[in-house]
Amino acid sequence: MKRRIYFDMDGTLSKWENTSIEIVARPGFFISRSPVSTVIGALKLLLDEPSYDIYILSSVYPNGYAEAEKREWNRKHTGIPEEKQIYVSYGTPKAQALSDFGGVKSNDILIDDFSFNLKEWPGIGIKLYNGINGTKGSWQGFCIHSNMNSGSMATQIKAIIDNT
Ligand SMILES: [Mg+2]
Repeated sequence: MKRRIYFDMDGTLSKWENTSIEIVARPGFFISRSPVSTVIGALKLLLDEPSYDIYILSSVYPNGYAEAEKREWNRKHTGIPEEKQIYVSYGTPKAQALSDFGGVKSNDILIDDFSFNLKEWPGIGIKLYNGINGTKGSWQGFCIHSNMNSGSMATQIKAIIDNT
């Protein structure tokens, strides 16, 4: 069985900025997020591995355009196919969104910048430290940092997968 790896978008694959809800809800916000080149580079290295199955798992405002903008963003920056992009409304646990996809297995990986998402994930969580999060020190599990180079990041993710 291939190991499944789910990548968060906001603050993980794309740069996040703490801003107002009004700005986040505006058309054009998500499509204009800058890519985090080191994390996207690691994702692309992992995509080359036939033993992994890679997905996007991202929260969206159900406003009619956030998901479309995120799909467009992925077309531009990651190349992850449409059917492997899974979007969940804000407030819904990410694992719940996967019930239509067979649920979460205990060895499914989630790479996310938000400890809350990692803590409620029934599989294996890897926290992405991005320079603005991690201030509370609430996560004690596996982690990577966006200032690593893509090769080291991919190697570290593979090592976690091999050991879990
Ligand atoms: Mg995030």
